[in-house]
Amino acid sequence: MIAATGALSVIVIETPLVQPLARLVESRRWGVLRSLGLPFWVEASLVIVLMDYTFYIWHVLLHRAPVLWRFHVVHHMDLDLDTSTAIRFHFGELAISVPWRAAQVVAIGLSPLTFSMWQVWFAACVMFHHSNIRLPVQWERAVNRILVTPRMHGIHHSNKPDETNSNWSSGLTFWDWLHGTLRLGVSQNDIEIGIPAFRGTGAVRLKRLLVTPFCPQPDYWRFPDTAKQERNELHPQVPPPD
Ligand SMILES: [Zn+2]
Repeated sequence: MIAATGALSVIVIETPLVQPLARLVESRRWGVLRSLGLPFWVEASLVIVLMDYTFYIWHVLLHRAPVLWRFHVVHHMDLDLDTSTAIRFHFGELAISVPWRAAQVVAIGLSPLTFSMWQVWFAACVMFHHSNIRLPVQWERAVNRILVTPRMHGIHHSNKPDETNSNWSSGLTFWDWLHGTLRLGVSQNDIEIGIPAFRGTGAVRLKRLLVTPFCPQPDYWRFPDTAKQERNELHPQVPPPD
């Protein structure tokens, strides 16, 4: 259901705004690539690479800017990683991303066709790295040299902040390597998925997911039980006098 609200905001907001914008960019020859007059397949390949990189930057901002993290945290609240996680985004995050998407389209210079091609590439990458497909380790390592794999992205969904703040690439692994944010070699058995503060039952119910960005935010990385235990240590219950 949270996925449905996310999909709805893409259909209602992003596509009607961005596709006409791409038509305008094409007709006016705006953007870096439209002005170069490259052969189509070179231009289309560069569109994928540049959109992938600018999406890496957007993903970093989603984690680093508190106002954006309020929305993106809903995606990280999922307690299991599977293809449904790929579409469990808060509609607010998708709505806020529209101006960024518009800036990408204008600056890079996307046509309606190259925009659609990027959407297919992006959807395929996101579905793949959120899936619970378990490739043989040797295969996964080979694919991971170029593309973000489920094991690599699983580290990004870990409930440890230093692991969550790594592996921000969504398509090409290269961007994490370039920025020193690539983190591999974490044992899959040691990874727990989710955000510690939201681990209680009911944390992933639709209403809770929808209202979370608008509520006071918890200490994300503290487990609810630990918080209670630490509060008791700070303010010990004084036994009543006899
Ligand atoms: Zn993230």
